Amino acid sequence: MNLPDLTVTDVRQHVYCPRIPYYRYTLPLERPVTAKMDLGREEHESTSAKESRRTLKAYGIKEGERRFGVDLYSRHLRLRGKLDMVIFTRYELIPVEYKMTSGVGLHHKYQLAAYAMLAEHTFSCTVSRSFVYLTPEKRAVEVPITAAMRERVRRVLRELRRAVWNERLPAPTPHRGRCTGCEYRRFCGDVLAGGA
Ligand code: SF4
Repeated sequence: MNLPDLTVTDVRQHVYCPRIPYYRYTLPLERPVTAKMDLGREEHESTSAKESRRTLKAYGIKEGERRFGVDLYSRHLRLRGKLDMVIFTRYELIPVEYKMTSGVGLHHKYQLAAYAMLAEHTFSCTVSRSFVYLTPEKRAVEVPITAAMRERVRRVLRELRRAVWNERLPAPTPHRGRCTGCEYRRFCGDVLAGGA
């Protein structure tokens, strides 16, 4: 199987449940765009418009240039993604991702780490921190970017490529609450049966 470049969304989904990106690459399915996804896209667009009128106070930053919807790519990692916002200050580059949630999950943190790595490749700099902007609460949460997080992102990319290449179904997420309402639920017979 010819493997395409992976995306930052793959990294986030793999940390959430490794089966989700696996199914996306191996099942010949057109993924339906749900009303919830449409709503999410509209919300993202309106957040960008509002954000461009705000100061950087929520991030504890006085001055900086903001760029929205930044396309990032690394040939070395064979990874791409589109980041909601990048803040450029005199001293650093800070990735920002908007979320319509009230908390920051591990999968969000690794999504930011993957964006940070892409930003480092694209802009030839080092990224030491990032932010998740929680849209419902209008609150920015800082996420430090560590060497261990970068290593886990590399591991996720290796694991996903290997699973897809070998067509070997990964283990399900141990957080079974995530299976409720999962669009791939009907393919996870072992989970439905209460196994593995
Ligand atoms: S049903 Fe559960 S184990 Fe299966 S893909 Fe969805 S979240 Fe993962």
